[in-house]
Amino acid sequence: IKTATLPLGGIGVSRYSLDLELYNKAKEKTDFLLDRVLDIILNHNHYEVITTDQKLTARQVIIATGKRSLLDKKLARPFIQKKSPWLAVKMHYKFKMSNDIVELHAFKGGYAGLSKIENGNVNLCYLVNYESFKEYKDINAFNKEVLTQNKALKEFFKVAVPIWEKPITISQISFEQKQPVEGKLLMIGDTAGLIHPLCGNGMAMAIHSAQIASKYVTQYLQNEITRDQMLIKYSKSWRKTFSSRLLYGRWLQKVLLHKKLTTLSYWFLERLPFLLPIIIKKTHGKEIQP
Ligand SMILES: Cc1cc2nc3c(=O)[nH]c(=O)nc-3n(C[C@H](O)[C@H](O)[C@H](O)COP(=O)(O)OP(=O)(O)OC[C@H]3O[C@@H](n4cnc5c(N)ncnc54)[C@H](O)[C@@H]3O)c2cc1C
Repeated sequence: IKTATLPLGGIGVSRYSLDLELYNKAKEKTDFLLDRVLDIILNHNHYEVITTDQKLTARQVIIATGKRSLLDKKLARPFIQKKSPWLAVKMHYKFKMSNDIVELHAFKGGYAGLSKIENGNVNLCYLVNYESFKEYKDINAFNKEVLTQNKALKEFFKVAVPIWEKPITISQISFEQKQPVEGKLLMIGDTAGLIHPLCGNGMAMAIHSAQIASKYVTQYLQNEITRDQMLIKYSKSWRKTFSSRLLYGRWLQKVLLHKKLTTLSYWFLERLPFLLPIIIKKTHGKEIQP
């Protein structure tokens, strides 16, 4: 087992709690309409947003539909045309674990993270190549046959008690390059670009991209710049802030998931305490200024 200090620290919080906090905070300033967006069309100087129930118009739209959505299909975004081999599995457990530790474990075809969340339960989340996964009947069989090959995970599964009836799975996770602006539509968060979860920086990047977008969208709405200028400025700023992080994330994933976890991967893990601060620097950027 190799350990290293996380230079920026970290907080373990479930999506349910974080999203609820953000939602309540945003509700103080804005209205919410809970509906599914089916299409967005730019008509001269406004957008038409078609939902399951209504047709809305807006001077500007920001798309934050996550890593994969029906809108991506509708807009025929290039990444959606390609098949992606990644599958994510997530489950909460009752398990005794230190508050200030994030564990990362490798297994054949993927890696798993263990971290404590706000209510004391432990989140197990893993990413696996579908080719490795499909040889097994189901998640339980995969956990039993593959994850437990890792000694630490074997110990975990011996005592950990699942909280949910069954795990959450997300398939077709694509790490292909995306564009932050496509067809004059502005995108933030995972919709603009998805970093490998290994870097643990997706949430921060989503929030940071929203901050960048808000700056230029505000300038546009206050008639200080045109829409085209706003889209160019956002695109440039997004690339400057995130492109190299995404590149390092891709590189890191390749190194760690080197076939059968040999050579380079072991070389990497051996040097983890020394390399981790460098990796964090390369994949997390600088502190966000308000
Ligand atoms: C396996 C895995 C592990 C991860 N672990 C971490 C981690 O430890 N730390 C971290 O910081 N990040 C992690 N991430 C990344 C993080 O989850 C994402 O970067 C983050 O959720 C991006 O936020 P978002 O708002 O862009 O997208 P999302 O959180 O996916 O939100 C998009 C929302 O849009 C909604 N939506 C989609 N389509 C439509 C539509 N047509 N109409 C209306 N609504 C729609 C969805 O329902 C969803 O609620 C992980 C990702 C994966 C896959």
